[in-house]
Amino acid sequence: MSELQPVRGTRDLIGEDFRRHAHVIDTARRVAATYGFDEWATPIFEDTRVFSRTLGDTSDVVTKEMYSFQDRGGDSLTLRPEGTAGVCRALVTGGLTQSLPQKVFYAGPMFRYERPQKGRYRQFHQIGCELIGPSEPLADAEVISCGWDILTALGISGEIVLELNTLGDAESRVAYRAALVAYFNDHRNALSVESLSRLERNPMRILDSKDESDRKLVAGAPTIAPYLTDAAGSFYAKLLGHLSRMGVPYRENPRIVRGLDYYSHTAFEFVTSALGAQGTVMAGGRYDGLIEEMGGPPTPAVGWAAGIERLSMLCDDILKPVQSIVILPMPSNVFIDEIDTRAIEVLQDLRRNGLRAEIGYSGNLKRRLARANKVGARFGIFIEAPNPHDADQEVIVRDLVDGAQTKVPASQLHGFLKNKFT
Ligand code: ATP
Ligand code: MG
Repeated sequence: MSELQPVRGTRDLIGEDFRRHAHVIDTARRVAATYGFDEWATPIFEDTRVFSRTLGDTSDVVTKEMYSFQDRGGDSLTLRPEGTAGVCRALVTGGLTQSLPQKVFYAGPMFRYERPQKGRYRQFHQIGCELIGPSEPLADAEVISCGWDILTALGISGEIVLELNTLGDAESRVAYRAALVAYFNDHRNALSVESLSRLERNPMRILDSKDESDRKLVAGAPTIAPYLTDAAGSFYAKLLGHLSRMGVPYRENPRIVRGLDYYSHTAFEFVTSALGAQGTVMAGGRYDGLIEEMGGPPTPAVGWAAGIERLSMLCDDILKPVQSIVILPMPSNVFIDEIDTRAIEVLQDLRRNGLRAEIGYSGNLKRRLARANKVGARFGIFIEAPNPHDADQEVIVRDLVDGAQTKVPASQLHGFLKNKFT
């Protein structure tokens, strides 16, 4: 075995793995477009402050998961751990804060220094949607509905539940925070070390703790509902109404808080029990304060991100496309170059007419046929020695499934095969 191995927590996408990955992105891109989202691509690395300022200095991502490094010019850069901060940075630096709303879809790799396990990697991939500009709950409902439709189009929504919560507005959170601090202070002894420090800095984060003992305490903690202001309560009620109108089923869960600091009002997760511990496939919420943190004007926004690896694991196999044609030059000692010339002409003609065509590179006819079967080819095209007196010489088309053979003039071959595939 080579001493050069893939880096811990990274994966190669080959064959079926790649097909599923691409299928998730293609499907999401298509559904997001029906909601009016346009795709953006932002750089994979950013100034470290793009993330440290906005994700919150108590978030897991910033405190222990970022891949940060100094480049040769001495700048501190970070491989993006998530997509929202980069999209908002691009919105601000691209001067788009005056052209709202912006509806953004993205897909690409993200990087977090985590303990690798099933469904959790150091390089992973996300698709995501951001709806920037509107402060109305209809925007939250559309973003969530778009996520739900993607899961449905992937054929996996039957195994997934939308869990929904509100984090209220700033005023609601001040009151709720005080209630949480009082509750957890009474149970300090049972809190993990990490949650003790969260208690000082960001007590809501304790609700998201994965520690067993913390989780037991969280089960009895106060919920935000009694602390919601009228405005925050009515925002949430409108969201629930819109989701019902849009046909999106949900379950309210007052423990959903999200791991990053920038959320307000809506918080949600799409979860499944089919993936063991890594059950959250899609997550998001409203982040009205983020763009201002980035140096832009106050700008409301709502969005989500989903882990492609986790979605892929839920999808059925994507079969390899079978529409393959293999060109088989019939070897002959005398005409070898001329046969190759003909074979290459036919090959290029098929490809340029949109057909998936390959050539048998070497070996006798039997070996080439065996290889054609292995790649799943539907037809073999036998190319014989050229006849200088026949400008549109026939080729032999062999159906590799039933063995039937037909002679077709070269100029009609692509039309003949296209008919076979439709
Ligand atoms: P978790 O609680 O699982 O750590 P998170 O709250 O850190 O998730 P988000 O930042 O909300 O996750 O990312 C959105 C989605 O991206 C997650 O729901 C998950 O599907 C996926 N995701 C996050 N981190 C990873 C990872 N290390 N490997 C694979 N997928 C991931
Ligand atoms: Mg995480």
